[in-house]
Amino acid sequence: MGCLFCNIIKGEVPSTKIYENERTYAFEDINPLAPVHILVISKTHIKNIDELEESNASVMADLFLAVREVARIKGIDADGYRVIINNGAAGGQVIWHLHVHVLGGLPDLGPMLAL
Ligand code: 5GP
Ligand code: ZN
Repeated sequence: MGCLFCNIIKGEVPSTKIYENERTYAFEDINPLAPVHILVISKTHIKNIDELEESNASVMADLFLAVREVARIKGIDADGYRVIINNGAAGGQVIWHLHVHVLGGLPDLGPMLAL
C-alpha cells in the first residue's frame, strides 16, 4: 500500500499543489479546517519528529521555509496564521509522513486547543 503522502509526491494520488521545490511539496488539505489549510511535506519520507536526527534535521528548515512561501502565496503572511504538527497517536497524527499544517484566512483562529 505504501505511504499516502509519498504517493501524492509521486503524483499517483491527485492533489492540489500550492508550492513545490526540490525538497518539499505543499498542497490543499482534503478536509480543510479553515479557509486556508495547506499541508507541507518533505519529499524525503520521515515518519515524524521522532525520526529526526542530525543527518536529516535540515528537513525541518526546508519545511518551514516552504511554510513561509505558502503563507505568501495564500496571502496570509501579513495577518498571521497557525502552524501545527500532530506528532504521534496522542498528538492526533493520522498520516505517518511528517507534515506541517498551515491554517489561516480568518481574523482569529481561536484557542490553540479545543479540549
Ligand atoms: P494528521 O492528523 O496526520 O496531522 O493530518 C492528516 C491530514 O491529512 C488531515 O488533515 C487530512 O484531512 C489530510 N488528508 C488525509 N488524506 C488526504 C488526501 O488523500 N489528500 C489530501 N489532500 N489530504 C489528506
Ligand atoms: Zn511517505
